[in-house]
Amino acid sequence: MYLLTSQGEREQADPRFREEVRLRSGQPVELCFQCQECTNGCPVAEFAAYRPGLVVRLVQLGLRHRALSADLLWLCPACETCAARCPNGISVRRVLDVLRGMSVAAGLVPLNHRELVFDHLFLTGIAGRGRVAELPLLLRYKLATREILRDAGLGLRMLRRGKLPLRTDGVKNRAEVRRLFRAVADAGASPEQVENPHLLRATAGAGGGW
Ligand code: SF4
Ligand code: SF4
Repeated sequence: MYLLTSQGEREQADPRFREEVRLRSGQPVELCFQCQECTNGCPVAEFAAYRPGLVVRLVQLGLRHRALSADLLWLCPACETCAARCPNGISVRRVLDVLRGMSVAAGLVPLNHRELVFDHLFLTGIAGRGRVAELPLLLRYKLATREILRDAGLGLRMLRRGKLPLRTDGVKNRAEVRRLFRAVADAGASPEQVENPHLLRATAGAGGGW
């Protein structure tokens, strides 16, 4: 079956997609009756072409490509308001977690995507010392994304208020941090997945994992 999107694009419905997302996220997406309570409370909905309720609808309809390309995947700050408001107990945030991973695994997101670059740098820092200092992390991120001046004003204000420390002490028990990363790798995650939680979610079982 083909379905037309609001932009007039044709996409073949994939009935396995809904089940896949339901199992991986642990969310009963089939119960969604489009009340839009999630969308009405979502702080980023106004910036998204595909809002929370609509993304769940895309999943229900099996429109894999549309759902995996939705801009909301990369706008959601995981506030969980959608989960608190949904009368059917659906956390759109958990659905989005799974869709992000599937989107990366399907190659729909460039590897230099800001979120992926940030995750990689952040987790590499955590794996080394158990903590990261904000300023070096920010500088590495700026160099990697080549967006040196983006949010520069905000960064300077934070720097003046001492919100961007240059150094941080690592955690005392670094062996425990290494053990956690090893446990994830031993559970079957590749080195890329250990450094990239979105990719790990793509292959995780029900519940959303990380
Ligand atoms: S968790 Fe994400 S989708 Fe849900 S309300 Fe918050 S920002 Fe919106
Ligand atoms: S609040 Fe729940 S039932 Fe209502 S549209 Fe959102 S996901 Fe669907």
